[in-house]
Amino acid sequence: MVDLLSHRHRIRTIQLEDDLTVLTSLQAEADITADDRARAVTRATDLVHKIREDADPGLMEVFLAEYGLSTKEGVALMCLAEALLRVPDADTMDALIEDKIAPSAWGSHLGKSSSSLVNASTWALMLTGKVLQDGEGMAAVLRGAIKRLGEPVIRVAVSRAMKELGAQFVLGETIDKAIARGAKRAAQGYTFSYDMLGEAALTAHDADSFHDAYRDAIARLAPHATSDDIRNNPGISIKLSALHPRYESAQRDRVMEELVPRLRGLVHQAKAANMGLNVDAEEADRLDISLDVIEAVLRDPDLAGWDGFGVVVQAYGKRAGPTLDWLHDLAVSLDRRSMVRVVKGAYWDTEIKHAQVLGLQGFPVFSRKAATDMSYLCCARKLLGMTDRIYPQFATHNAHSVAAILEMADDPTAFEFQRLHGMGEALHDVVLAGNATRCRISAPVGAHRDLLAYLVRRLLENGANSSFVNQIVDKTVPAEVVAADPFPAAMAPDANAVVALPAEIYGAERQNSKGWNVQDPRDQEAIAEARAPWATHHWTAAPMLALP
Ligand code: FAD
Repeated sequence: MVDLLSHRHRIRTIQLEDDLTVLTSLQAEADITADDRARAVTRATDLVHKIREDADPGLMEVFLAEYGLSTKEGVALMCLAEALLRVPDADTMDALIEDKIAPSAWGSHLGKSSSSLVNASTWALMLTGKVLQDGEGMAAVLRGAIKRLGEPVIRVAVSRAMKELGAQFVLGETIDKAIARGAKRAAQGYTFSYDMLGEAALTAHDADSFHDAYRDAIARLAPHATSDDIRNNPGISIKLSALHPRYESAQRDRVMEELVPRLRGLVHQAKAANMGLNVDAEEADRLDISLDVIEAVLRDPDLAGWDGFGVVVQAYGKRAGPTLDWLHDLAVSLDRRSMVRVVKGAYWDTEIKHAQVLGLQGFPVFSRKAATDMSYLCCARKLLGMTDRIYPQFATHNAHSVAAILEMADDPTAFEFQRLHGMGEALHDVVLAGNATRCRISAPVGAHRDLLAYLVRRLLENGANSSFVNQIVDKTVPAEVVAADPFPAAMAPDANAVVALPAEIYGAERQNSKGWNVQDPRDQEAIAEARAPWATHHWTAAPMLALP
């Protein structure tokens, strides 16, 4: 029995529930047994050994091995990359580079990495650091001269170094270049999904440019979508925030009126090309409105017969389970098939901070890494039971997540794995070679000026030493630990005590004040209800001091 409204209601009410409550219900539904989990660990441990022994690690892995966020230099680089994005003038840029680069011990990383690119960056950073450092005597005078003469050079060099690094994670500046550069991987059996770089549109003009870029990209990809089976064709990922400058729940009417026709136009173009079009998952506040937009577009009867509409669901979000139920039942009610890419989620730090700043009742995301890993597997199990209507796309670079899915799946052709370009290469090569499963590479495309924001997201995501990509390169972490079962840690009794809840950020000193989230439809309703008695009241306002 299809009941879309009750799924939507559940999605709203579960949003800020505590981690253990949500995990308990996910576990009960998924019913992943201790045996299933033990088999997944054995398979994952084997994969970790294979990746460490047989294959070349990817650049992200190599870079993090040298500059993870647990080193002072890694943090300096992260801050620098993040801050350079926002620095408007050369003087501030110089001061920033001096502040971040000079005090770090770059020399200790020299020649340590197996990658020449990473070693070259270390040389550049070390020399820059030496020039910028204060000292005494003649050497200091000389350094002072070089510093004065050299600052613009250093600025350019550091900016270039950051861009070079970022460029490794972008497949091409244009779709055509990206297709050409991906040819070798395509010959190996990989398919591609293209992702236009760039952040949310801030103005209508930005949104128009992104819209044009998406239209152009689909037109360029269309001739390459040559298979009758859409799963073998290239696809494209779309960010709804790029298509509308006020894509937010509080602007629902405007969004439905202006964004829906825009997305519908792109979707029709993708349908005509028989390629997949995927709606990315963004900040938690946008989830509710995204479902309204998706439903409005999918209800178009002209889309019947096309299986390429894709939606991304974030497993770190407490609402992932009911969102999958809603997507499945929507496909049933429309008699369609769709695609669902399940990811862990790329905005974790932002979500936690945002909930604390607003003083919400809880977090929309899990507060422990193991909880996200467990939720990911429960979502995977759910999706594997929905293949009558949904083509699951499991986007992960984590060998345990991959192994557990392979253990749970009966038919390796009923789903695909996905990875980001420049990451998880060794793992996916092993999976592609050893199983009948499809693997797709999500490939960012764009100009160098849009690179840094993307690079910062990747560094933040992978720099944490809890991240899989970070652990795989650190051979002091035993394979059994890298491939550990996340369930026990996720369900540990103190699971909620890791990150301070929004109400508790001041500790024993005082309780944080309770806030409102004007993007949450439940808070919007409560505010509207409280205002209702005053709807017909005539307000008059006048200055209290300077009376006329
Ligand atoms: P792992 O190292 O196993 O997991 C890292 C993830 O764990 C973090 O990213 C975070 O989600 C989670 N995590 C880390 N610390 C904690 C903590 N303390 N508590 C709870 N959770 C924690 N992301 C989006 O948000 N939207 C998208 O549309 C999107 N599209 C993608 C498409 C593709 C093809 C791919 C490969 C990735 C996409 N991503 C997207 C990014 C994705 O969310 C990250 O790559 C992914 O989270 C990394 O997970 P992993 O399994 O590879 O690594």
